[in-house]
Amino acid sequence: MSTFPTQARVVIVGGGIMGCSTAYHLAKLGWKDVVLLEQGRLSGGTTWHAAGLVGQLRSYQNLTRLIRYSTELYSKLEAETGLATGWKQCGSLSVARTEERMVLLRRSAAMANAQGVDCEALTPKQAGEKYPIMRTDDLVGAVWLPGDGKANPADITQALARGARNGGVRIFEKTRVTSVDTKDGCVTGVQTTEGPITAEIVVNCAGQWARQLGRSVGVTVPLYSCEHMYIVTEKMEGVPRDLPVMRDPDGYIYFKEEVGGLLMGGFEPEAKPWNKDIIPDDFEFGMLPDDWDQFQILMDNALIRVPALEKTGVKTFMNGPESFTPDLNYILGEAPQLKGFFVGACPASPRSICGRSTSAASPPLTATTSGCASASRRRSACITRCRGRSASSNRRARCAARRCPTASRPEGRGSVTRWAGSGPTGSPGSARRPTCSTAGAAAPGSMRSHQSIAPRART
Ligand SMILES: Cc1cc2nc3c(=O)[nH]c(=O)nc-3n(C[C@H](O)[C@H](O)[C@H](O)COP(=O)(O)OP(=O)(O)OC[C@H]3O[C@@H](n4cnc5c(N)ncnc54)[C@H](O)[C@@H]3O)c2cc1C
Repeated sequence: MSTFPTQARVVIVGGGIMGCSTAYHLAKLGWKDVVLLEQGRLSGGTTWHAAGLVGQLRSYQNLTRLIRYSTELYSKLEAETGLATGWKQCGSLSVARTEERMVLLRRSAAMANAQGVDCEALTPKQAGEKYPIMRTDDLVGAVWLPGDGKANPADITQALARGARNGGVRIFEKTRVTSVDTKDGCVTGVQTTEGPITAEIVVNCAGQWARQLGRSVGVTVPLYSCEHMYIVTEKMEGVPRDLPVMRDPDGYIYFKEEVGGLLMGGFEPEAKPWNKDIIPDDFEFGMLPDDWDQFQILMDNALIRVPALEKTGVKTFMNGPESFTPDLNYILGEAPQLKGFFVGACPASPRSICGRSTSAASPPLTATTSGCASASRRRSACITRCRGRSASSNRRARCAARRCPTASRPEGRGSVTRWAGSGPTGSPGSARRPTCSTAGAAAPGSMRSHQSIAPRART
């Protein structure tokens, strides 16, 4: 490892996919003297447990362009760095249970097509041919994106880190930024557990910790963590390795093939916030306890969409925190409150399924369960506990008997994440939970706006 620096042009805080992508792209752009600091180990924040869905269907042109670029990057990163990324271009299906949803899908597909993304509308029968274990008799239609895929976010992070190192970036793990130094409204450096570094630019890529780091220097970063859950099943008949990713926004759920079984997760309409005040520094590779009650609405909808789950064992229940902005848009760019202080926050962005957040068709969220356990559990313990239980027996084991709503729900209204306006008070309760998300490592070139992209008026 190189000697710890006392000076750098850029200090990136956080070694998740966002920080490593920023480092990689700065190196590609020829920036010298870039240092990345990670308080734990690379990808140990939220990136390591991301499901790894990569979808280009987005509500805004910029986001579609960004994710399309990500698919191109992931497909060549392994050849460039020698590290596998798990990228597989398996295509994706987004299905519609209602005419209204189909209109949204068609509209997003048309927009994506206009930007050169291959995307076509399918009948339910055509969708079923691509995903034979899916029930289709209740569908209105679907859209198909052959260029979409899946990847392993932790591996992508390592590959980006290697690419960054190859370009001269110095990366220090187990090094926490304890404060940001400022003078006359400008960043001047950081204090760390290994000593101070003076810097022209500090990039806050601290994931779910970004809000508290920003707040320490008066910068608003409205990112809040909620528990996000998925299951992985035992092997299933009819699940080949190249099964497309499937999203069912009306049921809040997504599916992806995982070792011959299905990974199924989603975004329940009533989110469960986690540690809304302070995120512990040592929450590394952490997991949260299973919550089958919270998961029930997703499980019920998954059984509607893939009835074979009824007889399939659940191998893993994964619950990890994941941060969200109130409008689900990314926060990218220089903070207006502090010169030289940039933020790169990519909350899970479930907008991808329908090109618009499910919140566009969902009632506003109310956060009903606050707090939650801080104890982390290891994946292996979870696997042992879940193994051998079928999805239906897990379902029966739960006590809550909430009915799963079907597609017709009252409409919500879009909200806007703004640097200046949202304030540290934007509560998780104001966040809206949408459907499926997509990994998109943002390039610094895309950090143009100091304001997250405001949603358009609903049409
Ligand atoms: C269960 C689950 C499934 C998901 N599925 C998907 C998916 O399919 N597709 C998708 O696009 N997204 C998905 N996501 C979301 C995705 O994981 C996140 O959007 C992404 O990982 C955020 O990356 P990040 O680099 O911003 O944050 P993180 O990965 O959390 O990285 C931030 C890093 O900053 C470090 N840090 C914080 N403070 C400091 C400090 N003061 N000093 C030094 N280091 C610090 C932390 O230790 C951490 O490693 C999923 C998330 C979860 C939980």
